[in-house]
Amino acid sequence: MIDELPLRTWLAVTIAVATAAMVWLLSRDGQAGLAALAGGAALVVIIATIPEEQAAAHDEAPAPSHELPAAAIVEAVAEPVLVLRGGRVALANVAARTLLGAHIVGEDARVAIRHPGAAAHLAEGVTQPVDLVGIGALDQRWEMRAAPIGENARLVQLVDRTGQHAAEKMRVDFVANASHELRTPLASILGYVETLADEAGDDPGLRKRFLAIVFDEARRMERLVEDLMSLSRIEAEKFRELRAAVDLAVLAQEACDTLTTTHGDRGADIRLDIAEQLPPVTGDPVQLSQLIHNLIGNAMKYGRAGTPVEVSLWTQAQNVCLRVADQGDGIPPEHLPRLTERFYRVDPGRSRSIGGTGLGLAIVKHVVERHRGRLDIASTVGVGTRVTVTLPTPTPKPLS
Ligand code: ADP
Repeated sequence: MIDELPLRTWLAVTIAVATAAMVWLLSRDGQAGLAALAGGAALVVIIATIPEEQAAAHDEAPAPSHELPAAAIVEAVAEPVLVLRGGRVALANVAARTLLGAHIVGEDARVAIRHPGAAAHLAEGVTQPVDLVGIGALDQRWEMRAAPIGENARLVQLVDRTGQHAAEKMRVDFVANASHELRTPLASILGYVETLADEAGDDPGLRKRFLAIVFDEARRMERLVEDLMSLSRIEAEKFRELRAAVDLAVLAQEACDTLTTTHGDRGADIRLDIAEQLPPVTGDPVQLSQLIHNLIGNAMKYGRAGTPVEVSLWTQAQNVCLRVADQGDGIPPEHLPRLTERFYRVDPGRSRSIGGTGLGLAIVKHVVERHRGRLDIASTVGVGTRVTVTLPTPTPKPLS
């Protein structure tokens, strides 16, 4: 039983007895010694009744939150954070100092965050978030939140909303562009159908011509809807695991055969050069086939008639490379970074007149990303364009 007493109880007993002995030795007063012993015994009882875990927890408990170093907490936050006291900046973390300047500590908050929206917001003591444009870079967008943290003090946080805003703008632009692209052929179809329903329908020559236009416009809408559906399918399948072993040589051969038979003289310009023993890539055969069709289709559309469209496949390190090269007007360098944006065209009139949807390269980019590959577009104005896609081959499993 005695063996089971915790160490702290033994220590308390020792201290209580030693204290009583010292009191008796110093004062030679038996009653004082007894009183000290009684006090010590009470202390021992109290200590012994505190559960062990509680005592341990008490020893190890972190300092109460009000003792945590506020500056260190603010500094550890990745986004810009300021602590204002009496309208002045009392603390600013490294992100805030980088954004607003190292000098802001001690400054009036309205001067530190040089933005009319922020100044009005802080002056009125509003706690609702407010959007601020142009702090830091001109196109940067921030959401400023201010919360009271005690008397006359406020925590101001700036949350970077630039990426979110860009994604939202892209979505809105995409819907607007897609609607516009669909409405144009639709308006044309409605116009011609109305005219056919009136007097023009009686003239066989006019009727034939107008029906051909209606057919072309309907086909244009169909291509657009197909490309839009392909894009959304590719995006929906973005995180689905790729499993199939795909032979790009077979897909390229199939695409060339189809385009050769469907595109008359221009189809005859396709040259296919496939290296021997091309390893398979892990991928989605339907998407990879569409990628090949889109690239060869572009080379046929934008290359000069009668010049070769060269399609090559070869291996490089652990990759399979596909290159489609044409001889045409080429692309001015300032357009190259934007070619894979949806509906981006160097010459919209030309693209539409030859049946382009403006989505071909956006689809190619998404397919390449899904296959963890790389897309390079190189072009020389007046000479031609070379598009190269590099796709990784599966790494061989180590022998066990
Ligand atoms: P489109 O349906 O208009 O061809 P893409 O997304 O396939 O749309 O291509 C975007 C734009 O890039 C085209 O409108 C065209 O201006 C340009 N482009 C693509 N491929 C070529 C090429 N091989 N040569 C010259 N310009 C090209």
